[in-house]
This record gives sequence, structure tokens and C-alpha cells, in this order.
Amino acid sequence: MRLLVVEDDNALSAQLRCDLERAGFAVDLAANGIDGEALGDIEPYDAVVLDLGLPGRPGLEVLANWRRRSNAVPVVVLTARDAWHEKVEGFRAGADDYLAKPFHTEELVARLLAVTRRATTLVTGTLQAPGLTLDEQRQTVTDAGGTVHPLTGTEFRLLRYFMLHPGQLLSKSRLTEHVYDNDSDKDSNVIEVYVNRLRQKLGKGIIATHRGQGYMFGERG
Ligand code: CA
Repeated sequence: MRLLVVEDDNALSAQLRCDLERAGFAVDLAANGIDGEALGDIEPYDAVVLDLGLPGRPGLEVLANWRRRSNAVPVVVLTARDAWHEKVEGFRAGADDYLAKPFHTEELVARLLAVTRRATTLVTGTLQAPGLTLDEQRQTVTDAGGTVHPLTGTEFRLLRYFMLHPGQLLSKSRLTEHVYDNDSDKDSNVIEVYVNRLRQKLGKGIIATHRGQGYMFGERG
């Protein structure tokens, strides 16, 4: 999953990027409201972490502008501690959740997983598909036979994206957009390599190829 972090405290955003990447997210950073709003409109993020006190344009205005343009990206706002009015204003502007500073990255990760998975209400730290269990803490996948397969960062991000979108036709470019951050060399041919690695680990039938269109995970029949 790919995240945008809009935060003007450079020390905090650098730390967040590091922690969130370790948690298996691809992360882009913006340090002011104007850049953040533009990136959030251009790039297909799976979720946004949005500070409210930002130079250039306040976070609430950024959020309200996205929602006015029907940009429904899940947003977790970062509020000052004990600032209850910020929480209320954040929800009114269209936030999906909030977190008061200071916070533990683990809690932010849990909230991000929750807002990106509205359909599933429980955050268990695992993601299930028929015959597969993805452990988001350990970044491993267990197959039907009980074998635990360790995954590299890219394999993990790719498999998680597939498991969150079962039965959907996903183009190479869409997968590339959601698996890599802006700084990465986005070569969509690389996706093919990673799909084949997942097939080697988990069986050929796990991901179907639709020639010229893309891939489908968890296809029936
Ligand atoms: Ca700030």
C-alpha cells in the first residue's frame, strides 16, 4: 500500500517514513499543504496521514478541498493533544480517523490498516484469503499446508495489495502505483518478476495472468 504523509516537522516525517516503510508501506512525503494537496490529487494513494498545522495551506482546508472534488482517499489526521475541537473539525472536513500527537507508530499503523480496510472491522494483524494467511507484523505468508514463507518488502506490499483486491483485474501500472513510492524507479515490468516470485512460493494458480490487461488474485474456477 502506498501512503502520503503531509507533515511539516521534518524530524517527525523522516521518522514516520522509516517506521512506515518498515511496516511494509511505500511512503511519499509532503512538507506543506499546497504540495500535499496536489500530490493527493495526482497520485493514487491508499491512505494519507495529514497534519493539521501546515505551512502554505492548513490541513483542514486540504482535506475539505479533496472531499469537494470527490477525492475519497482515506485520511488519518494528526491533531494536537487535547485539542478536541480539531478532532470535531477534522471529522466534519471528512477525516476517517484521527491521532493525537505524540503517538506510537504502532497505533498509526493500526489506524491506517483500519481505514484502508473499512469492509473488515477487525484489525487482527493478519489478512486472510482462501488457503493463505498474511502476517502483517512479521511480513510472512502461511500457505494451506502450514508452511510459513518469508517475504521481501516488495513481495509483501504486492501480495497485500492483491489480497485486499481479490477477484479484481489489476493492471501492471496500477500495481506499480500502489507498491512503489515516488522516489522509486517505477518499471512496471518488474511487477512481472515479483508476481512470478509469489507464484514460485505459493503456487502457480495463486495469481492469474490476463494477457494485455493485468493480473487477478483469487480467481474462481
Ligand atoms: Ca505541523
